[in-house]
Amino acid sequence: MVLIPAMKGRTRVPSPEIPKGRMGRAEREIRSRLSQMSAGNWLVRGSLTTRERVCGKANCKCARGEKHVGLYLIASKEGKLRQMFVPQAYEARVQKWIAQYKEAENLLEQISDLCWDKIQNREE
Ligand SMILES: [Zn+2]
Repeated sequence: MVLIPAMKGRTRVPSPEIPKGRMGRAEREIRSRLSQMSAGNWLVRGSLTTRERVCGKANCKCARGEKHVGLYLIASKEGKLRQMFVPQAYEARVQKWIAQYKEAENLLEQISDLCWDKIQNREE
């Protein structure tokens, strides 16, 4: 919810998504899913991309323009691009860990939204 300056100081605004009486249960379910998701699962922030490169060996096919194609995990980290080569055998697993991270991030965002509503409603 966007807080418009003119609305500051006004009285409680009920959450439009979750009826007040059910908010506790919805939040418990989200928190439970988040703890299941984070317990024991690998969570990886980033995305997979393919890159072409030359290996540097003078006799290699890549020196003649036929570059090596490799899979890389990339993410921005503290303003810099972080990247790592990922062997083909790891692709499916890494893809799964990326999806799990996104799911956990989504659940965390939902908890944050609920907390925004709590602040809005002056809950303690
Ligand atoms: Zn090469």
